Amino acid sequence: MTVEAGAGEEMIESDQRGLSSDEAAVRLGRDGPNVLPGRPPTPLWRRVLSQLRDPLIVVLLAAAALTIATGDWTDTAVILLVIVVNTSVGVWQEIRADRAITALSELTAPAARVIRDGEQGLIPAADVVVGDLLVLAEGDIVPADARVVEAATLLLDESSLTGESVPVGKETGADESLWAGTVVVKGRGRAHVTAVGAASATGRIAGMMDRGGGLTPLQRRLVGIGRMLAGVTVVLCAVVLAFGLVRGQPVELMVVTAISLVVAAVPESLPAVVTLSLALGARRMAARHALVRRLPAVETLGSVTVLATDKTGTLTEGRMVARRLWTPAAEATVTGSGYAPLGEVRQALRRPDSDAGRPVPDPAASGRPVPRSSVSGGPASGSQVPGDSMTDLLSAAVLCNDARLVPPQDPDGEWEALGDPTEAALLAAAAKRGLDREELNARLPRVAERPFDSERKRMSTVHRLPGGRVRVICKGAPESLLCPSVLADDPGLLAEAATRAGELAREGFRVLAVAWADRERPGDEPEQDLHLLGLVAILDPPRTAAAGTIAACRRAGIRPILITGDHPGTAAAVAAELGILDAGDGRSECRALDGADLDDGEVGRVAVFARATPEHKLRIVQALREEGQIVAMTGDGVNDGPALRRADIGVAMGRRGTEVARQAADLVLADDALGTVVAAVEEGRRVYANIRRFLIYALSGGAAEIAVMLVGPFLGLPLPLLPAQILWINLLTHGLPGVALGGEPARPGDMSSPPRPPGQSILGAGLWLRVIRIAVVVGAVTLGVAVWAHHAGRPWQSMAFFTLGATQLGVALGSRSRLRTRANPLLPVAIASALALQVAGLYLPALRDLLGTRPLTGLELAVVIALSGLGYAAVRLDRLLHPGRAAGDRAGRPAVSARSPEPGPEEDTVRS
Ligand code: ADP
Ligand code: MG
Repeated sequence: MTVEAGAGEEMIESDQRGLSSDEAAVRLGRDGPNVLPGRPPTPLWRRVLSQLRDPLIVVLLAAAALTIATGDWTDTAVILLVIVVNTSVGVWQEIRADRAITALSELTAPAARVIRDGEQGLIPAADVVVGDLLVLAEGDIVPADARVVEAATLLLDESSLTGESVPVGKETGADESLWAGTVVVKGRGRAHVTAVGAASATGRIAGMMDRGGGLTPLQRRLVGIGRMLAGVTVVLCAVVLAFGLVRGQPVELMVVTAISLVVAAVPESLPAVVTLSLALGARRMAARHALVRRLPAVETLGSVTVLATDKTGTLTEGRMVARRLWTPAAEATVTGSGYAPLGEVRQALRRPDSDAGRPVPDPAASGRPVPRSSVSGGPASGSQVPGDSMTDLLSAAVLCNDARLVPPQDPDGEWEALGDPTEAALLAAAAKRGLDREELNARLPRVAERPFDSERKRMSTVHRLPGGRVRVICKGAPESLLCPSVLADDPGLLAEAATRAGELAREGFRVLAVAWADRERPGDEPEQDLHLLGLVAILDPPRTAAAGTIAACRRAGIRPILITGDHPGTAAAVAAELGILDAGDGRSECRALDGADLDDGEVGRVAVFARATPEHKLRIVQALREEGQIVAMTGDGVNDGPALRRADIGVAMGRRGTEVARQAADLVLADDALGTVVAAVEEGRRVYANIRRFLIYALSGGAAEIAVMLVGPFLGLPLPLLPAQILWINLLTHGLPGVALGGEPARPGDMSSPPRPPGQSILGAGLWLRVIRIAVVVGAVTLGVAVWAHHAGRPWQSMAFFTLGATQLGVALGSRSRLRTRANPLLPVAIASALALQVAGLYLPALRDLLGTRPLTGLELAVVIALSGLGYAAVRLDRLLHPGRAAGDRAGRPAVSARSPEPGPEEDTVRS
């Protein structure tokens, strides 16, 4: 226990107003922002150069050199055009993705609490200046180097700086330093900033979005796939080259043709398209209040199978109201709503028989001082007057309390809580009885404390009584308090209180027990030999939206799990109301973990974990992940960091969560609403679906191009397409329409089907077969047109050229997630302009020279356009005949919602 020394008090007094905001602004201008100098932005020429280093572009450059050497200027022009367009699109996509990521990391930038102009406020950590008065609490990351001026059990994790994982205690008046980037694991304090930015210690706040070596797992997998595709393509093109040479085509023409084919068939824009899709997905998530802190999380979100959530403030409003009071002598109900001190404490004497027979502990016999009702202002009478017992309970709850109630700012505003809502509820209840926080604290100043911690589930404070003695007050979870090691009361009383606490919990109340004792000295171990004052039952109504969120999770095949530090009764009551526990569901059971060990095997069927500690959370995440689940887990406390990091998607609340939780999370909910996770999952699934859409489109197009060139010669078409024509088609199809596919909206049924199996490759679930089926149709239509036109003596090559491009555009149109949607208007626009360019390739004289085409007659054009519609039809039909993803998944593994009717051992189970 830390006893605050009186020595530093004057200094604290004089400094309590902090800097003035004017002075802070001056210093910010003088010293610069509190950030480490970042990497300078990549210059444009470097981006361009890195694009030009792409192997495909190198090949194209070689081809351009070859055409220049042979004086084939038209091919040179087309190849250069392709290089310029590809490079610009690549650079543009990279810049856009970078911007989106930077904007996002600014949204989740670290924040700091400082006192300026006498007011406590939250500012970006970057705005902290030397001399600022920092306010630090459990879960904060120290934003700059600072010197402690006030500390209460202040413990810091300095491992980011020293590698030493044992937390270091800091004391008031000991001239102790705090280092930027270290974490407050316990207690609270204030400190003066001594150095900011580059001048501060090296331990830094992990503020920037981690791009983990640049590539996400999906991108890495795609790079591998791209290499494989390139290999296959090169081999096939070599075959085309060999055929051509055998048939006596000019060597140089065949080399350029083969190169063009390689370039056209390999989806070279794939990595760029994926990065952009992920970045834009992250931006859409941000617009829906889901801030993604790491790009890979965007793709992981789509495959989440379990959502593990905490209760207080996430499923419930976190706006607590004390409703019932219980003391050994009486019971009371509290009226009123919110944190307003309006309402009354209606007291009822307990039935006499319940009191009768209970021995009243004799203070003299126990030899210990008995708390007197001195704080309530009445005469210090030793007898237990019912009125006094309530007042004693509430005044103790007010003293052992760090929260504050803030009156409404405007006439129709509401009272707000600063600090722990549980404690604010106690303040409000006490205020209804006329007990004022400031007045009590002035009368009984706090001299020591042991802050609340979710492992012990209790806290205590020590106060100086007028006569020089001290009063110890402890409050916490009933199981943590109502035991002989803490309370010196009669076992019968403890049992009675425990029974009542259990009843209240099962009604859905959050129950706190409060105890106290007066002593000569604080002593080393204050939390023993105390006397029970009573119980407070606090109601935290479920959020109106929570039941809908849970239902949406279930529809999307995501299993909801509740992990809470609260009593199993309270947890089960809330879980049942929200549909997490549901009757007749064998998986759903409620498991209380107090002290007990967690059996990994049971994690699969438990829906509610009560009395869980942050360590349990970590264990649960691990067990679920070993089962192969993709776990999203919410957390807000300082100890939740490891579990948040271990979860596939760690979720923190933007407003309510601690800084540590926010910085450990992958996803920060700006609106603190759990439903936002579901929205993010929807966006994640959409991104994944769109990347697959692009893959089907790009791969089938490339495959069709190769097929046409390979099969053509056997059908009497010596060189079906010229190199320039191949490159032109590549430009049209992969350019805008390819990028536009990434903006497709989610499919209507996306959130009512189970998530994709975690191990599924992006090319899995029948994607290859789909690519082949569509490629066969596109290739066959093109070759059919060419052969027919060849026999009919029509300009067959130009017709094949047009058909191959237009059929692919038909495929793009057919790939829309919803046919008649107005969402993503870019796609129809892109397709229309590509088609216009394709037509221009036939009729504009300049392009005709470049591409070696001939104009088609009206009839011929009508025929090829009509036949190109088959590309569209192919995709639609394919979807109809092979409903794809969702169905494939259902066949592929037992659906997540499948339930094993296997109830657990009854004694572990609390059913609602
Ligand atoms: P959760 O946030 O999951 O509801 P907590 O770990 O915050 O769980 O709380 C666990 C239990 O600890 C609560 O049921 C309550 O009895 C007790 N408790 C919560 N907050 C406080 C506090 N500020 N002081 C004392 N006891 C508390
Ligand atoms: Mg809590």
